[in-house]
Amino acid sequence: MNPLSATIAAVSTPRGRGGIATIRVSGTDAVNIVSEMFVPCGKKYSSAKELPSRYAALGSILDSDGEACDTGICTVFHAPNSFTGENVVELSCHGGTSLTEAVLLSVIAHGAVMADAGEFTKRAFLNGKLSLTEAEAVGRLIDADTEEKRKLSGGAVRGNVSREISRLSNALLDVMTALYAAVDYPEEDVGDEGERHIEEVLRTVSAGVGRLLATYKTGRAVQEGVKCVICGRPNVGKSSLFNRMVGDDAAIVTSVAGTTRDVLRETVSFGGVTLRLSDTAGIHESSDEVENIGIERAVDELAGAELIISVWNAGEHLTEQDTELLRRLREVSSPVIVVLNKVDVGVVLTDTELSELSSLGEVIRMSCKTSEGADELSAVISKRYGSDGLDLRHDAVIWDVRQRVQLLRAESALKSAVDGISAGDPLDAVCTLVEEAMAALSETDGRGVNEEIVSEIFARFCVGK
Ligand code: GDP
Repeated sequence: MNPLSATIAAVSTPRGRGGIATIRVSGTDAVNIVSEMFVPCGKKYSSAKELPSRYAALGSILDSDGEACDTGICTVFHAPNSFTGENVVELSCHGGTSLTEAVLLSVIAHGAVMADAGEFTKRAFLNGKLSLTEAEAVGRLIDADTEEKRKLSGGAVRGNVSREISRLSNALLDVMTALYAAVDYPEEDVGDEGERHIEEVLRTVSAGVGRLLATYKTGRAVQEGVKCVICGRPNVGKSSLFNRMVGDDAAIVTSVAGTTRDVLRETVSFGGVTLRLSDTAGIHESSDEVENIGIERAVDELAGAELIISVWNAGEHLTEQDTELLRRLREVSSPVIVVLNKVDVGVVLTDTELSELSSLGEVIRMSCKTSEGADELSAVISKRYGSDGLDLRHDAVIWDVRQRVQLLRAESALKSAVDGISAGDPLDAVCTLVEEAMAALSETDGRGVNEEIVSEIFARFCVGK
């Protein structure tokens, strides 16, 4: 790990051939270092030290032997008006592995050190340029591979989540001030009206925290995808459904029972929701050893699923294996969708059987052969996990488990504070709970998190960011 006093450097554009590349240098000595290896063209400026902030100067870039290796652009950003909050210099040269390496080595030879992964963004956070939420979102924005992820991460980079957390914290700060005054000067009684006001604000903030928490399901579904498992006894059409959802013939479909012996996985966008889909071996008793391993894995998959699509053959009565699966599914806590497949051949299930199945979850009549019901399945998934009602670009939406844990902590402290104040508890006890909620909100946004967590978060970034 580099000390904060070091001036760091890295190639910030992707490796390999390219029209241009950018070498970024950040730290107290950034401008001095670059002035040793960049000579501006023309007469206006004789050194990088003379360049005004944000002025793009054309000039010669020198390698570590002092030889001109390229003509490029040097842009200086003086502290604190830069991405990291430190002196930053960006050298843009022609792309290409060898050339960018030579420019980077020259910067290093003149006193910079190689930046760690995510170190520029980490410094931006440490210098108060970005909240932790915004900094994490920068990493997500770079990694975004779907439109929804881009909108969500972009919104967080622009401060949607941080602003909402600040708004809630500021409201609490007012209450804290009133509570401190009441605790320190008990003779100046806040009165019933004062207490009612405090209670009202605490309720409002608690509801705000609750609203933010409610966005987690959507945020996570967009960023990470929903772990969705397809299960059912052999030959009901699991692989056919998997293939229909994946959009190609990823799973083998045959009319011989028990062909999916392991677990097939695929990430798909279905109903506007990213699903981490797995097709499991049919859950049933088998004497085939390999098949049995597949069945065991299928049972494990069910335990870790966030959404289960159970497939049943509408053209046959429930079998013993179906009854066994029904029993297992009643025990799981994740939501279950019931797909009655093969309706094209007719539905023979009795009312009793249908009511047993519908006790598991929403029922969709479907045919993987004719596509009947496919739109309904996609609508049900979209309703459950889609961004329904939320504007990913503009609303505050959380997706990080760390943030969720802290918001739950804040919510619980606020609820206890509201209960305490309405039960007439001493105000210093209420004050302690509000302090706890404040601390949790601060941690949600990264103020007050420890060094280890900060380092772990930034290590997930790429070098140069
Ligand atoms: P799995 O063992 O549950 O994965 O089932 P498969 O997807 O391998 O399908 C078993 C058999 O049922 C294959 O012959 C499929 O072509 C057939 N099948 C699947 N879905 C339907 C459907 O909706 N209608 C009809 N008529 N046949 C289907």
